Amino acid sequence: MAKYKITVDNNACIGCGACASECPDNWELKETDEGFKGRPKVAVLGNEEDYEKNKAAMDICPVQAIKIAKAK
Ligand code: SF4
Repeated sequence: MAKYKITVDNNACIGCGACASECPDNWELKETDEGFKGRPKVAVLGNEEDYEKNKAAMDICPVQAIKIAKAK
């Protein structure tokens, strides 16, 4: 089964929270030294259903900070 790995570009993220609103199962806002940042609770996805939910978060991110790539 395909696996997917999520990465977030911290420099691009503006902490808007759209990812957490779209996919609360796996996204949250975390306070960091650089302000609030979107973070996945789990960075490796093991099935298509999780991929689709997280893809919705990726698609809604206004600054394209989220990437989901096939993991090896
Ligand atoms: S939607 Fe994008 S910019 Fe907004 S908190 Fe999530 S990762 Fe950051």
